[in-house]
Amino acid sequence: MTTPIACVIGWPIGHSRSPLIHRHWLRTMGIEGDYAPFALPPDDAAAFFDDFARSGFVGGNVTVPHKEIAFSKATVVDSATEALGAVNTVWLEDGRLMGTSTDAVGFLANLDHATPDWSNNRGPAVVLGAGGAARAVIWALLERSFDTVIVINRTIERAEALARRFGDRVRAADWESSPSVLREASVLINATSLGMTGQPSLPLDVGRLPDDAIVNDLVYAPLETDLLQQARERGLRTVDGLGMLLHQAVPGFEKWFGVRPIVTEELRELVVADLTGQP
Ligand code: NAP
Repeated sequence: MTTPIACVIGWPIGHSRSPLIHRHWLRTMGIEGDYAPFALPPDDAAAFFDDFARSGFVGGNVTVPHKEIAFSKATVVDSATEALGAVNTVWLEDGRLMGTSTDAVGFLANLDHATPDWSNNRGPAVVLGAGGAARAVIWALLERSFDTVIVINRTIERAEALARRFGDRVRAADWESSPSVLREASVLINATSLGMTGQPSLPLDVGRLPDDAIVNDLVYAPLETDLLQQARERGLRTVDGLGMLLHQAVPGFEKWFGVRPIVTEELRELVVADLTGQP
């Protein structure tokens, strides 16, 4: 039997932490296999996914900018992924390319682990951003039975399009209305790229949030964003984005290598050390 090799497919791909995560699991569970970064130029993507069975990989993660083309090429059988229109995990079944998105699962698992009671208070959830990550978050919040999800985005038309797509429990708001929107939020999720290393901070006043609100940032580099720092200093419970990255990796590993891995503190520390440049 040949050694199973999975990959992470993107363009560029050097920044991905996925090899660190999956190789840690392979090593600690004593599984023979590997997980490699694979740089795929956009012009080659359609042919690559069409011919995936002959790529030599048992499957892989898919990242920017290939999530939509992977969705169009893979067989998708779950309604969450259908609703998202993007695939971040692929594998082979009888030679056929299968695909799913694990972002919503990772988002929920992270909050469930960090703040187990986070969805008890079903007051409005506020999502900042209207891109791919926001879409997964909205789907997950509706799945968790939130009655109201308010989407704030710079380009209001994109937030409105999501509200139309997901139905009347989702409504769009612009940044100017954020002070009043924040006042009623039970959970606030940053799904924009603001706050990432090299990007501007999020222009938001966390002082408006209720005392029992929970703040989750999907950005994990830096680990503690300005938003999380301000929320923590304000006494609010905060959840960083690293847990989502770790939890969203679990289903793919299980598909490729046949064992369900566990997100441990040891794994988290390994990735934190890599993010912060510590030896
Ligand atoms: P995306 O599809 O490119 O969406 C980016 C979002 O950020 C859009 O809503 C965009 O608003 C907004 N934005 C960008 N620059 C802005 C600015 N200067 N001012 C205001 N809004 C701005 O990206 P994505 O894939 O959804 O990812 C969003 C974030 O989530 C990234 O930081 C990514 O790293 C993070 N993420 C984390 C995980 C995890 O596992 N923790 C998983 C997925 C994503 P417009 O619509 O107006 O352009």
